[in-house]
Amino acid sequence: MKEIVEVAIGLPIPKAFHYRIPEKMKDSLQIGMRVLVPFKGRKVTGFTLDLLDHPPKGIEGKLLDVEDLLDEIPLIDAGMLRFYRWISDYYIYPLGEVIKTGLPPGLHLKSEPLLTLTGEGIRSLAQGELDPIQENVFREIQRHGKVPLKRLLTLFPEELTRAKILSWRKHGFLDLEDGIKSKEVKPKLEKVVEIAGGEPDKLLSKKRKEILEWLKEKGKVSYSELNKRFKSPSMPLQFLQAAGLITLSRREVSRDLSVRSDLKPYSKPELNRDQEVVLAEVLKGIHSKRFSPFLLHGVTASGKTEIYLRAIEEVLAQGREAIVLVPEISLTPQLLSRFKDRFGENLALLHSGLGKGERFDQWRKIRKGEVSIVIGARSAIFAPFQRLGIIIVDEEHDPSYKQEEKLKYHARDLAVVRAKQVEATLLLGSATPSLESYYNAEKGRFRLLHLPERIEGKHLPRVDVLDIKKESGLFSEKVKTALQKNIEEKKQSLLFLNRRGFASFILCPDCGFTFKCPNCSVTLTYHLGDRSLQCHYCDYRIQAPADCPRCQGHQLRGMGIGTERLEEEIRTLFPGAQVERMDRDTTTRKNSHHHILKRFESGDIDILVGTQMIVKGHDFPKVTFVGVISADTSLHFPDFRSSERTFQLLTQVAGRAGRGESPGEVIIQTYNPDHYSIQRAREHDFSGFYREEIHFRKDLEYPPFSRLINFKLSGNSEKRTKSAAEEMGKIGQTLLKKGYGKGIEVLGPSTAPFAKVRGKFRWQMLAKGKSSRWLHQFSQALAARMEDQTKGKGISLDIDVDPVSIL
Ligand code: ADP
Ligand code: ZN
Repeated sequence: MKEIVEVAIGLPIPKAFHYRIPEKMKDSLQIGMRVLVPFKGRKVTGFTLDLLDHPPKGIEGKLLDVEDLLDEIPLIDAGMLRFYRWISDYYIYPLGEVIKTGLPPGLHLKSEPLLTLTGEGIRSLAQGELDPIQENVFREIQRHGKVPLKRLLTLFPEELTRAKILSWRKHGFLDLEDGIKSKEVKPKLEKVVEIAGGEPDKLLSKKRKEILEWLKEKGKVSYSELNKRFKSPSMPLQFLQAAGLITLSRREVSRDLSVRSDLKPYSKPELNRDQEVVLAEVLKGIHSKRFSPFLLHGVTASGKTEIYLRAIEEVLAQGREAIVLVPEISLTPQLLSRFKDRFGENLALLHSGLGKGERFDQWRKIRKGEVSIVIGARSAIFAPFQRLGIIIVDEEHDPSYKQEEKLKYHARDLAVVRAKQVEATLLLGSATPSLESYYNAEKGRFRLLHLPERIEGKHLPRVDVLDIKKESGLFSEKVKTALQKNIEEKKQSLLFLNRRGFASFILCPDCGFTFKCPNCSVTLTYHLGDRSLQCHYCDYRIQAPADCPRCQGHQLRGMGIGTERLEEEIRTLFPGAQVERMDRDTTTRKNSHHHILKRFESGDIDILVGTQMIVKGHDFPKVTFVGVISADTSLHFPDFRSSERTFQLLTQVAGRAGRGESPGEVIIQTYNPDHYSIQRAREHDFSGFYREEIHFRKDLEYPPFSRLINFKLSGNSEKRTKSAAEEMGKIGQTLLKKGYGKGIEVLGPSTAPFAKVRGKFRWQMLAKGKSSRWLHQFSQALAARMEDQTKGKGISLDIDVDPVSIL
């Protein structure tokens, strides 16, 4: 019998901990289950990692008991545990937190410390015997009765520390109490009615008889179905149950997910020559049952989706399973409905747009092997399949595969790792592959496959680049003419502008005042719809005033345009046309993307205005014109990938035009008509772009010629964050001197490009090096030495590993 269990805790603590297994759990406790364990006076959820015969040396006496076992069967199998361990090591992130990221939300019970005032505390407050900070804190507690410790630390970032609070507790002013937080998601149950088989021994009333007859036909039905058929059935049912004619019970049901497929039905086409060649290669990989990585570079509308579908058919025929990653699933109802048409119910969905309960149910379906395919956004890479045969990453270049908070993983990179671990096929697809992936393909790490032409010999659209320096107004005569022509010919147009809102900021021309967010170092965007000023980085929002708050001037003016303004101008210009806008503001309600796209597909909309939401892989044959209002927004982003990003966006948005019978036309407006990312997009020349960009990366030693890790510090207190950053710089230099990172260059520390976001001050330090092993070692050492600088000081260190596509 194993005595001891090793547990990873879902808290930002790097190591695993050991607990004793109480007698009553010895038969049932296994690796990969959740347990509730005592930790620093609280109770937290942990994951069991290993079972041991004896406690590790030196801590025998101190071990506590597992408090509770939360699962009957393990949530995590050995394969997933291995995957999680790899991630934890690579991203230098606590294993318990990694596991938590991979599991559906709502499985975490946690107690949190709540503070209350003792009698002594109340008395001292009343008698005014306290210092000012103590008084403020105690008042806050008194006002609410109980206050979470964490909340106090954010309320008083400069003055308060955890240590201070604990000392007040020692002095008898405060009490700490344990509150269990967050309710656990449970399987949903429904009532079912079933025929029991006996015969009625006396005459039944009409209604009872009807119900019984109906049930005999059906055998077993849900109560809700019965309730639909018969009015108020509960009394007759009670009678029938008492007479032993029926039984009432409960069964587990899945929270229904509307995987809608009310878009145009998708039939199975004959493959063309290129598709056949590509598929044959992929099938070789699938049949080998070895790790077989492919990069499929196929121009827009070259029929990549059909390759995915056929490859999956083959994997299913082998009795294996498939993960399909798509950038943002709510934006791709078309792809979803194609999968639904081909595979029916054998499909689970995983993405953040689902409710907690829905996500939990989808996850359980996968875990229990009830489905063989999952489609999802980046988190679907954690789908707990046990016989994985293929991982497909559609639009592998898309930045949304990177999670930017907490565990900063890149789902494409993880797809490579997982496919390798389980010896599966990996299929990365894109019209504009990322530089990293393409470079890997050139080096022979991925097999490169091509679909160089559009389906059925359709042409890529003609693209014109227009210099807006020579134009006046929002759009050129050429764009206006093209839109007018399309309206007359009943064809559709897309207008792309990568900024939402009405005006990017409001300026007072008299005194130069602009409205800034108090929590973030950005200007507020003006939204005409509700006449508000909003921060696009936090939830801050105010009513837009009529006059300048500084000089009382009457001339406040909106500067810089957004999609809301664009929509308005288009409506004024073409009063008869059907105009619709798709951006974050018009798609807050559930399924609203879907409704807009459906109306667009049916031809009800003439002109669709939008942000990058309209760029994603939609396939609308009637779109013949695409206008890019300004190509410069992404070009000036302070990031070494800005050219790449611009090329991708322009190629993708242009790719929406001319997918049907009529050829497409694209106009790109820009201040930088000669920039290579714009010129190469105009020529649909990916390899030309790649050659220029890779040259530049090589010269400056940027990825893929080096690897980057960004150390991001953020904290509520400006002063403390700054001094922690300075300390980080010193530690970095010391480590370099000690030889921790051979060939590593450290840049910074400096304030982050956005120096303040959501009230947190942000600093960063960049480490750059050729060897990922040395970089990793350096990072681990730095993270360990930074603990003293951050722990209990309201400062956190985030390690952000730059994506590399193969590891
Ligand atoms: P991509 O994903 O490369 O942008 P899609 O998979 O959306 O391209 O394919 C573009 C269009 O071509 C779709 O409407 C699809 O139904 C159609 N299609 C794909 N393969 C074939 C084929 N072999 N024959 C006819 N039509 C096809
Ligand atoms: Zn803000």
